Amino acid sequence: MTTHETSKASVLEAIGQTPLIELDASPDAVPVYTKVETFNPGGSVKDRIGKHIFETLLDRGEIDPGGTIVEPTAGNTGIGMAIAATRLDLDAVFVVPEGFSVEKERLMAALGAEIVHISSDGGMAAAADRAHEIAAERENAVVPQQFATPLNVDAHYETTGPEILDALDGEVGAIVVGVGSGGTLTGITRAVRERVPDVRVVAVEPEGSTFGSLLGAEREEGPYKIEGIGTHDPDVTDLLDPDEIDEFLRVGDRDAHAEVQRLAREEGHLVGSSSGAASVAARNVAEEIATGERDAPYDTVVTVFPDGGERYLSKNIYGSFEEWEGKA
Ligand code: PMP
Repeated sequence: MTTHETSKASVLEAIGQTPLIELDASPDAVPVYTKVETFNPGGSVKDRIGKHIFETLLDRGEIDPGGTIVEPTAGNTGIGMAIAATRLDLDAVFVVPEGFSVEKERLMAALGAEIVHISSDGGMAAAADRAHEIAAERENAVVPQQFATPLNVDAHYETTGPEILDALDGEVGAIVVGVGSGGTLTGITRAVRERVPDVRVVAVEPEGSTFGSLLGAEREEGPYKIEGIGTHDPDVTDLLDPDEIDEFLRVGDRDAHAEVQRLAREEGHLVGSSSGAASVAARNVAEEIATGERDAPYDTVVTVFPDGGERYLSKNIYGSFEEWEGKA
């Protein structure tokens, strides 16, 4: 296991082993612990999957050194994959729909990746189609497809989940995590369930997202500003198994934004809007466990802060709600 007390041969060895930090705003009886993924070299949870997916594809001979990875991504996955690509002698091409934060795109480019823009009309599905077209035109090119590859889940099953279990000595009462591809939630859940079979699992999505329909919730599709989680096409990912999830909780833009600012001002966390949403949901679940409205095998809640607030300065994340929404 990696520790940060020894010198490293490469930045790839500094991925993972992020701190698990107790939220001050937790109820006394039920602490909320958050895995702070900004500590990864690329500043997000997605460094874990870039490393794991590429090392595995190279090991299996599914791509050879010098080959090209082509991936549809709104950003963090691109940054994580670009770091792994540069260290593992692979080229990276990312198909990026319009509308996401420019910081992420600049960082991908800084790491040497090629960026292909497409309109946001077709969502991530259209980006995936374009990635496959690009890969078909090149030799030794692979589309890992974070929304389809079980290696995304495995990265969290092998690293994030065990790290949480170690830090809490296995005492995990509820997992409350945002879902984009679902890799983080599903991987952590599978690892924790092996030790805590009745752990409660709550998936977090923005209000207006329709993942909840996978568990029979009414579809109330609408726009949302929270970046990195949610969908308007619940079939977009192969990595969520409704049987493994107890519930979907929806968090509105306004609450997520207010929580991002509270987390900075009161707790010193500089995090993005999906972290704000996760924090709101995790604190609610902890309150319900504390009052006995909700059952859990232990009086603890675990969440994940996937990325940092600096990534969204151009979107005015630390401005007023209206400024962030783009209406000011
Ligand atoms: N938050 C942010 C900022 C992200 O970029 C992502 C990945 N799209 C997530 C949360 C969700 O992670 P996952 O894809 O593992 O569900």
